[in-house]
Amino acid sequence: EHFISFKDVRKTYKMGEVEIHALNGVSFDIDQGEFVIIAGASGAGKSTILNLLGGMDTVSAGTIEVDGSVISDFNEKQMTLYRRYDVGFVFQFYNLVQNLTLKENVELATQISKNPLDIDKTIAAVGLSERISNFPAQLSGGEQQRVAIARALAKNPKLLLCDEPTGALDYVTGKQVLKVLQDTCRKEHKTVIVITHNLALTPMGDKVIKVRSGQIESVEINPHPMDVD
Ligand code: ADP
Ligand code: ADP
Repeated sequence: EHFISFKDVRKTYKMGEVEIHALNGVSFDIDQGEFVIIAGASGAGKSTILNLLGGMDTVSAGTIEVDGSVISDFNEKQMTLYRRYDVGFVFQFYNLVQNLTLKENVELATQISKNPLDIDKTIAAVGLSERISNFPAQLSGGEQQRVAIARALAKNPKLLLCDEPTGALDYVTGKQVLKVLQDTCRKEHKTVIVITHNLALTPMGDKVIKVRSGQIESVEINPHPMDVD
């Protein structure tokens, strides 16, 4: 039994007469506590996979199982609860509340959690203890993304889904952010799934799922995930 299973998942978007086959039969497994990188060119289907996994969209066919539940069978109410309590999201653009401090941004997220992590410890885990009173505009891009990671983590979700979290950052800063996500995975025993189109970063993943034209191109397991230069 795997923590996450995609079984022959298909997703078709209908745009009037036109059908776009975003996913054409995608199957893969992810284990609890794995640091997973999903890579592939723009338009390959990466965000569609993450949106389905996060309960933000529904499958056209196939099944998705997470932690023993078939989430592809969930009704709207179950989906809402799943998104709220079980999944943490990190996006390319940090989506922080500009008129709240770093600490208040993280606090806000814990208010919708049944079992939040300690706010100060979570902020320390992303290396920003000295900046808790700063507003987002006072932080660099990489720092803002680390706040977004702390915010997603603080509600203590089962899995952390990150859609191009390094996409707006330069290579070195992006690498640091990915390292924070990898540390989070190791220390908090969270399953962390990260989308990137930057192939140079994939050696850091425990598992690398390559997607191409709505299909799985390859699934590689790294027995010794590496830091990259
Ligand atoms: P990636 O994240 O790898 O760039 P996406 O999952 O965003 O790829 O997109 C996969 C395909 O599905 C693309 O052809 C894209 O245009 C299409 N697509 C994604 N979302 C929608 C949508 N809401 N409506 C119509 N087509 C979509
Ligand atoms: P980047 O190179 O990512 O654009 P910045 O030049 O914006 O980074 O910021 C560099 C450093 O200065 C960061 O540590 C950031 O937190 C800090 N900083 C930037 N603006 C402010 C500010 N208004 N108040 C406090 N610290 C700031």
